[in-house]
Amino acid sequence: MSKGLIHHVEINVSNLENSVAFWGWFLEKLGYELYQTWNKGRSWKLGESYLVFVQAEEIYFDVSYHRKQVGLNHLAFYADSREHVDLITWQLRQKGISILYKELHPFAGGKEHYAVFFEDPDRIKVELVAPG
Ligand SMILES: [Zn+2]
Repeated sequence: MSKGLIHHVEINVSNLENSVAFWGWFLEKLGYELYQTWNKGRSWKLGESYLVFVQAEEIYFDVSYHRKQVGLNHLAFYADSREHVDLITWQLRQKGISILYKELHPFAGGKEHYAVFFEDPDRIKVELVAPG
């Protein structure tokens, strides 16, 4: 029964190589598997849903992404547990990826919301949240 669940999300990226390194690492930590590969894109699938990353064409580079503008603000994923959030947070730091809302971490989303927030290479915000 997949009715209504997200089938896929497709995101244009400025540099496919950078995005593949980042998203491949993160999504595979969450159990996603590489699903499709072609010269302009890559996708990863978990269950019935997949995420697609496609190299944007240079002619569209002059309008850059900003999550405060109209459009996507962030993508949030379930972690396994609070410990899992902590492990990924540690690994993000090891990789030199900065954590957002550091002073509030891991409760930047509220007292009952154990999560880490960070950015992908195009500064799309990503959230990993422990189940409640
Ligand atoms: Zn959120």
